Amino acid sequence: IVSDEDAKEQKLLVALRIRPINEAELEENAVIIAHKVGQQMVLLMDPSEGPDDILRANRSRERTFIFDMVFDHKATQEEVYVSTTNILVDGVISGYNATVFAYGPTGAGKTYTMLGTDSDPGIYIRTLNDLFKAIEATSENMDYTVSMSYLEIYNEVIRDLLNPSSGFLDLREDARGSIQIAGITEVSTTNAQEIMQLLTKGNKERTQEPTTANKTSSRSHAVLQVTVKQKSRVKDINEELRVGRLFMVDLAGSERAAQTQNHGKRMKEGAHINRSLLALGNCISALSEKGGSRGQYVNFRDSKLTRLLKDSLGGNSRTVMIAHISPASIYFEESRTTLIYAYRAKNI
Ligand code: ADP
Ligand code: MG
Repeated sequence: IVSDEDAKEQKLLVALRIRPINEAELEENAVIIAHKVGQQMVLLMDPSEGPDDILRANRSRERTFIFDMVFDHKATQEEVYVSTTNILVDGVISGYNATVFAYGPTGAGKTYTMLGTDSDPGIYIRTLNDLFKAIEATSENMDYTVSMSYLEIYNEVIRDLLNPSSGFLDLREDARGSIQIAGITEVSTTNAQEIMQLLTKGNKERTQEPTTANKTSSRSHAVLQVTVKQKSRVKDINEELRVGRLFMVDLAGSERAAQTQNHGKRMKEGAHINRSLLALGNCISALSEKGGSRGQYVNFRDSKLTRLLKDSLGGNSRTVMIAHISPASIYFEESRTTLIYAYRAKNI
């Protein structure tokens, strides 16, 4: 079990969320095959193996995976937020960077965790609310400005989800060498309801394409970028402006192009998604090695996503990855590959 103190020290935290089984899955006679065991373990059973299978023990693909935290259908939005992301707030207002990712196949619950619903909002809103509260509590001698942008990366192209008609945006490096998105809309409201409306509207602008799996699939990474600038209010103190940046990323569905038998345009999307998720996994696992002791070269330039996140992965930054799966037997393969990816990010 990870204590609060341990969690505070950790640079990379990998959690798993198993959503509740749903009607559509039950109608297909699916059964639950992903079981939470204790606080940190999941058992994934292979549905193709009957209980009487004599050779089972030898070739079973049933196995357990361990993460920093495992949440199942009983976990509330509040609980997921408090145990994974709340710990980042203090760092961000003190000028540190952090990133939270939702990873997993389409339909596994990524957008539910990040955006959530009006009645049960997710990590975006809960984090922003706590950021504003923390700033209120410490703002006597400090001036803070908070701004946010919401964008998508689709086929290696960046679009502004708060102003979709603005076309494709470019990544630039500013004079200090930090990455900026040229021309992106920056919003600075502290009204939670207004923010939820902006994000919900922005989310509807995401590039969603039906695949042959016949459901709406997000083919884009959605990125909520929050920047907190801080400077001393005391006159004559020319204190360095501190900037903390938090990225909250609802990743594209991780199902592979090959699995959904896509062709042409769909296949190209699949290749881009695979490439950026692979680049991301490589960056995270390289950074998770203690102090980069193996001297591994971290190639941020491999994708737009990793380029954008360059300053927020590694160094003094914190990273949280929340992997998502359905508990249903019909998604065994997708769940298995998701667990392997998330497990590797941490354990290479
Ligand atoms: P993704 O973004 O990974 O494609 P969604 O977040 O859209 O998946 O989830 C798919 C469906 O399942 C949505 O209708 C969503 O409301 C529901 N859902 C996902 N996770 C949960 C959860 N933990 N509790 C209740 N409903 C959930
Ligand atoms: Mg989604």
